[in-house]
Amino acid sequence: MDYSPVKGTHDVYGKDASAMEYISSVLKATAELYSYQEIIPPMLEYTEVFSRGTGESSDIVRKEMYTFMDKGDRSVTMRPEFTAGVVRAVVSNKLYANEDMPLKLYYCGPAFRYERPQLGRYRQFNQFGVEEIGLDSARADAECIIMAIQGLSMLGFDKLSLKINTIGDEDSRKKYKDALRAYFASKIDEMCDDCHERLKLNPMRILDCKVDHDQEIAKNAPKMKDYLSEASDKRFYETLSILNDLGVDYEIDDGLVRGLDYYSEVVFEVHALSKDGKDYGALLGGGHYSGLLKELGGPDLAGVGYAMGMERVQSLMSDNGLLDHLETGIDLYVMPVGEESLNDVFVLTEQVRQLGYSADTPLAALKMGAMFKKAEKKGAKFALILGQDELEKGIAQLKNLASKEQKEIKLDHLEEELDAAFEALPGHDEDDCHDEACHCHDHEEGK
Ligand code: AMP
Repeated sequence: MDYSPVKGTHDVYGKDASAMEYISSVLKATAELYSYQEIIPPMLEYTEVFSRGTGESSDIVRKEMYTFMDKGDRSVTMRPEFTAGVVRAVVSNKLYANEDMPLKLYYCGPAFRYERPQLGRYRQFNQFGVEEIGLDSARADAECIIMAIQGLSMLGFDKLSLKINTIGDEDSRKKYKDALRAYFASKIDEMCDDCHERLKLNPMRILDCKVDHDQEIAKNAPKMKDYLSEASDKRFYETLSILNDLGVDYEIDDGLVRGLDYYSEVVFEVHALSKDGKDYGALLGGGHYSGLLKELGGPDLAGVGYAMGMERVQSLMSDNGLLDHLETGIDLYVMPVGEESLNDVFVLTEQVRQLGYSADTPLAALKMGAMFKKAEKKGAKFALILGQDELEKGIAQLKNLASKEQKEIKLDHLEEELDAAFEALPGHDEDDCHDEACHCHDHEEGK
C-alpha cells in the first residue's frame, strides 16, 4: 500500500503555510478596498456547471476535470476553476435580485485539474480571484484590471506587465474562427493531435497550443483585430482609454485568447518581470464574459473577473525575497528549571498567552541547553526562565535572545514587565505598530 500524496498534490506546512495565509490576507484586504465581498462556493459541482449544454471546447473542461459518479449516480466534478461555480451560486441564490448591482465577489481556495504535474503546475492548486457581475461596462473591466495589479503591488511585486487583448463579441469571433479554420486547414497535418481536435471544436484554442512547431505556424495566423465588429473595437478602446487615465501601462497582445470559452471582449493577463525584464509568465488571467449567467439559468447579465495562481505567486515572492519579512517566531519560550516547576510554569505560560503574547514551554523536563536550542528553533524573542526558587520569590529571568541581555522581573507585574520589554525591542514603532497582541496602544489610550 502506497501512502504517498496523490500525484500533483502537495502538503503545505511551516513557512509555506504562513506564506499562503499572508498572500491570501493581502489579496482579500485589497479586494475589500474595492468593496468586494467574499464568496465561498462548494468545491464540488454537478458536472454540467462546467461542461454546460453548449459544450466547452477548452482543454480544461474536455480533458482535465476530476469528474466522477457519486453514490446517487450523478456526475459531479471537483471545480477546475471558480467562475462557473460562482456564477452558478449567484443564480442559485438569486444574488442578482437581492443585492446592489454590480455584485462584487472575491474567492480563495483550491481548484483541481488533471494536468501533467511539472514545476509550478499541480493537480490541486489554489486560486484567488474576483468576479464583478451585472454591469457591462468598460469601467468594470478597468476596475478589475487595476485591482489585480494593485493586489500584486501590495504583495511587493514592482515589475509587472499587463497584456491585454480583445476577442470581440460573438459575431466577431464567428468570423474570426472561420478565418482561422481556413488558415489552419492546409497546415493541420503538420500539427499535434490536440490541434486537430481544436480545429473542429474551436480553432481559437490552437493559438494556446504549447507545441513549438504549432506555435510557429500560429504566429502567422489571422489576427482578431481584423475581424472585430465596430462595437467590440469601440469597447476595447474604451477600456484602454480608462487604463490610460489611470496611468496603467499595458501591452496589446493579439495572440492572447484565454483558455475558457465563456470569455468575450476584453481579456488580459498580468505577468511578473525580473529586474532585468525577463518574463516569469502569467500570475493571473481574466476577462469579460457574457452569456454565462444565462447559460446557467439566470438573467442575461455580463461579468468580468480574474483568477490568480497562488502557488506561482508564492514561489516568485520567495525567489525575490518578498516573504523574508514574514515573522514566524513566537514571543516567548518559557523555561522551567527543574522537573518540580513544570506544572507551575505550564500554568504561567497559559497566563502569558492570555496577555496576548505567543508562548510555548516544554511539556517534559529538558536540560537548559536543549531549551535554548528549542527557543532558537521557534524563533522566540525572549526566554522567560524560572525554577522552584524563583516561583517562591515571585520572580523570573527575562532574557532577550538576540541581545542576550537578561533582567529579573516580578511575576505579579508580569504584564507591565512584558509590555516594557517588547516595546523596547529595536524596530518597535508605536505609530507603525499594527500588532493586535502588542500592548503599546493600551498606554496611548491611557488604559
Ligand atoms: P486559468 O484559470 O487557467 O486562467 O489560470 C489562472 C492562473 O492560475 C494561472 O495564471 C496560473 O497562475 C494558475 N494555474 C492554472 N493552472 C494551474 C496549475 N495546474 N497549477 C498551478 N497553478 C495553476
